[in-house]
This record gives sequence, structure tokens and C-alpha cells, in this order.
Amino acid sequence: MAALLSTHGLQAFYGDAQALFGIDFELQAGEVVAIIGANGAGKSSFLKSLTGLVKVPRDAVRFKGEAIGGLPPGEIVRRGLGLVPEGRRLFPSLSVEENLLMGATAGRPGPWNLRRLYELFPILLEKRRNPGTALSGGQQQMVAIGRALMSNPEVLLCDELSLGLAPIVIQEIYRALPRITAEGMAVVLVEQDVHTAQRMSQRLYCFQEGRVSLQGESVRVTREQISRAYFGV
Ligand code: ATP
Repeated sequence: MAALLSTHGLQAFYGDAQALFGIDFELQAGEVVAIIGANGAGKSSFLKSLTGLVKVPRDAVRFKGEAIGGLPPGEIVRRGLGLVPEGRRLFPSLSVEENLLMGATAGRPGPWNLRRLYELFPILLEKRRNPGTALSGGQQQMVAIGRALMSNPEVLLCDELSLGLAPIVIQEIYRALPRITAEGMAVVLVEQDVHTAQRMSQRLYCFQEGRVSLQGESVRVTREQISRAYFGV
């Protein structure tokens, strides 16, 4: 089956510094795939390359049969890739609801709207008039996820959802994932928390120093394989 989203020998650079050294990656429709790896392994750079925030050659990224590498980020959102960025990055001067509505500017039709989001995360309905930045870290993460869902993406790209959150809050955030994927949305989860990554995904890739050091079905890869792929020992 042709992949929904794929990369082929993807390389990425910041000026002269190379961050990715030939990543081959595939995501099928409806699949949840995790990307794990140590700090600096290239996980964020990979998501930035998919979403046009880091410029890469056109043919290095394919989505629904089209080469999209290096297109402007807004164009990539309009085509159906939605990013939940690392560190949430809410608009500080806007309310929760205004932040959510910013996600809808892509004008893509689909199942996600404010009502559905408030059902998914009821606390956001209560806080909808508060400034986004007045929320707890977990609630801010809900807004960041909601903002991406409001663009009705076909693929949701999540960068470190669990970063800086307490375990119980991480659980609460991840409880929403099955409801997000229920209608066939595919998800790429960049996750430092290996246990969560393995539990929530069907397949995983481990990155090490800008290369894929391991890939496989999440239930089949062993702890030893992961620690070898993670640290290169
Ligand atoms: P983390 O979990 O810390 O976010 P990561 O796996 O997402 O790590 P990246 O942030 O993609 O890794 O970093 C990959 C490499 O690219 C690192 O060597 C990093 O120093 C470098 N890098 C990342 N962002 C920039 C930038 N804006 N300018 C220059 N180099 C960068």
C-alpha cells in the first residue's frame, strides 16, 4: 500500500550544520507512529522538515502522492498536515478560544470544531475566555492539540506532548488520543517518554544523531533494542 506520508533520504541543515542524514520514513493512513531518541537526535528537526519550517528538497517528503518538501508551512497545513509544536507556543495575548480558532484559518472541512474540542477537553470550555498562558501546562497542551485539530488535518504531528508535565497529566492528555484517531486520523508522536511512545503507537522509529537507528512494531521491539538504538551502546 502506498504510504500516506513518507520521506526518502531526507537530509536537513541549519546553515552548514547537518541535523538529518537520510531519513527513510513511512506512515500509513490511520496509523500511529512514534519517534523516540535522545536530546538532539533530530526528532524536532524531522517534524520541522515535514511541515516546511526547515526547508528540504521537494522530493524528500511525499504526502498523498505529491512532493511537498520545502513548501511554505501554511500551504502544508492546507494540504492536511497539522503540527502540535514543542513547548505549545500559544499566542499569549489571545484567549483559549481565540487560540483554538487560529487553527481553523486553514479552512479545511472536517469533523473538528469548537464544540467537538470542548467535548474532548471539557476544561477548555470552562476556561475559554482566559488567556491561553494563564492555564496549567497540561491545559496549554490541550489548547495546542486543539488548535492543530481545528485545521482538520489528515496527519497530526505531535512534538513532545509530555514535556514538562506530571505523569498523571500525561495520562490525561494521552487518553484523548484514541478519540482523535477514531475517525481515521494518522498521528506521528515525537516522544521522549519511551514507555508512553511504545504504548500509544503501532510502530516506532528511534533516531540517533540524525539517522534511524531502529524501527519496528512497537509491541515487538525490546527494551534492549531500544536502549542500544537510543544511546548507541
Ligand atoms: P530535543 O528532544 O532536544 O528537542 P531533538 O531530537 O528534537 O532533540 P533536534 O532539536 O531536531 O533534536 O536537533 C537535532 C540537531 O540539530 C542537534 O544537533 C541540534 O543542536 C541541531 N539544531 C536544532 N535546531 C537548530 C537550530 N535552530 N540551529 C542550529 N542547529 C540546530
